[in-house]
Amino acid sequence: MSERFTGSFTQQEPIPEEAIEAAVRVMRSGRLHRYNTLPDEVGEVALLEKEFAELTGARYALATGSGGIAITTALRAVGVRPGEPVLTNAFTLAPVPGAIAAVGGRPVYVEVTEDLVIDLDDLQAKIGAARVLLLSHMRGHLCDMDRLMAICDAAGVKVVEDCAHTMGAAWNGQASGRQGLVGCYSTQTYKHMNSGEGGFLITDDAEVAARAIILSGSYMLYGRHLAAPGPEVFERVKYETPNISGRMDNLRAAVLRPQLRTLGAQCAAWNARYGVVEEGLRGTPGLKIVERPEAETYVGSSIQFLLPGWAEEAVREVLSRCAARGVELKWFGAAEPLGFTSRYDSWRYAEHAPMPQTDRVLSGLMDMRLPLTFSLKDCAQLARIIRAEVGAVYQARG
Ligand SMILES: *Cc1c(COP(=O)(O)O)cnc(C)c1O
Repeated sequence: MSERFTGSFTQQEPIPEEAIEAAVRVMRSGRLHRYNTLPDEVGEVALLEKEFAELTGARYALATGSGGIAITTALRAVGVRPGEPVLTNAFTLAPVPGAIAAVGGRPVYVEVTEDLVIDLDDLQAKIGAARVLLLSHMRGHLCDMDRLMAICDAAGVKVVEDCAHTMGAAWNGQASGRQGLVGCYSTQTYKHMNSGEGGFLITDDAEVAARAIILSGSYMLYGRHLAAPGPEVFERVKYETPNISGRMDNLRAAVLRPQLRTLGAQCAAWNARYGVVEEGLRGTPGLKIVERPEAETYVGSSIQFLLPGWAEEAVREVLSRCAARGVELKWFGAAEPLGFTSRYDSWRYAEHAPMPQTDRVLSGLMDMRLPLTFSLKDCAQLARIIRAEVGAVYQARG
């Protein structure tokens, strides 16, 4: 009898008791709106922003209603206009081109490499096409950020980072999201902190921060923020910046603040799991591990591997054989969008050039979530099952 995995790939850990108590306190107060504070009271959202700015080393931080709102707000705050082209990764999640569409922009896709990062040669070739790059660290993979910033700085291109999968990650010891002009994060249930929905943006740029805060729906109450620029900066932008409601509330912030304090330990727990799966898969014939650069401190909340050059039927056979043994792999090569997975050619509201390299990489790209409810033993079992099934299909097909 072959072993079968019985864990759930969508089961996150419970919310910590301390966070539940904090949430109950906010509910008992009735003051859930972030600006609904007593005289001298500092709200949970303002405190969370201050703590997130401290954690990442940013001067300014803003909490938002979702990661997608953080990205949309960032694009507006850096001045993307309707009709304007915005460079972005061809391999990313639907809310990324969706954020560009939300501000009326046009995505210009850049190819992905076998290391699952933006292709910097392709970026260099296309850099003249736009004033802004929305860089997605998809599935937590960081490209050579030094070279990326050199390319963008030389061309005067502003970088907005989508750090939905890199909260807690770093490049050369500097928090992910701090290399570009703005870093955006998500606290949606499947990311690294869980408030159901939510997000952040961080920046060192005072005007971008002030515009983002007004865009997020601060009205003229921005003085209640603790991680915001001074009133003189708001004076410069407050008449010309629309309010596009996208705030976080005190309830979610209360749930997040205790999680912020344990983020480092959570990231270490993810990496322990990632390491077990990676070691278990290493050396599987026909399977390519995605190697991580030395400068990258990653958060292994999901793992990817490649079946390079495999025929579609063979990939499908691996998927169904693994599924039959309880192992849920996602395939980014599928022609039709499914669940959370879609690809650039499914986003038909936007035009795209042929992306042959991305097509080739995605055709063999497998993805597996690693929720912290999985034990290290679970992870070893997952790797054994994948190894066996990939091996069986590979052998049978020669
Ligand atoms: C989840 C995610 C987002 C959007 O975050 P939401 O909070 O769900 O809006 C953006 N980019 C990537 C890569 C994501 O995984």
